[in-house]
Amino acid sequence: MAVRDIVIYPHEVLKNPTQKVEDINDEIIQIVNDMWETMYEKDGIGLACNQIGIPYSIIVVDTSIKEGVQPVKLTLINPEIIASEGKQTYKEACLSVPGVAAEVERAYWIKVKALTPKGQEEIFEFEGFPAVVFQHEIDHLSGRVFLERLKGVKRRLALEKYKKVLRQLERAKKNRESA
Ligand code: ZN
Repeated sequence: MAVRDIVIYPHEVLKNPTQKVEDINDEIIQIVNDMWETMYEKDGIGLACNQIGIPYSIIVVDTSIKEGVQPVKLTLINPEIIASEGKQTYKEACLSVPGVAAEVERAYWIKVKALTPKGQEEIFEFEGFPAVVFQHEIDHLSGRVFLERLKGVKRRLALEKYKKVLRQLERAKKNRESA
């Protein structure tokens, strides 16, 4: 197992839809293991495969590191939201969009069809906080980050802030290289 680098938005791999996994072979199992290790290393609650630069439709989620929410720990392959209801707003952040958090409106309840790592198709239902996390991660698989869920002024402000963060990261990288 290995901790992988997190790809930072707006990298192309985060802006394009991922491919469905056709065969859960050793390569896929290795990727899933690396996703878990990377997510825990970075203190994430969820991670999509394209966030480590590999365009497969796989997500890992573990909400148990957050207190006071329903603990859900799952690897889902080719997940698809097949039903949703209600609304909720939650302040989201993302390992691939460092330094920015914003309130995003999403469904309160979702039903998801996915394969388990054993290759079985299952239906899952999530509500409240876990539903936020799964919608955020499944969005990644369709090439979308949470910033794109924002509207109007909120979106503009978040994008402006993110541009500043990117410039800071760029400067810090240059300083490291010249040091
Ligand atoms: Zn994310």
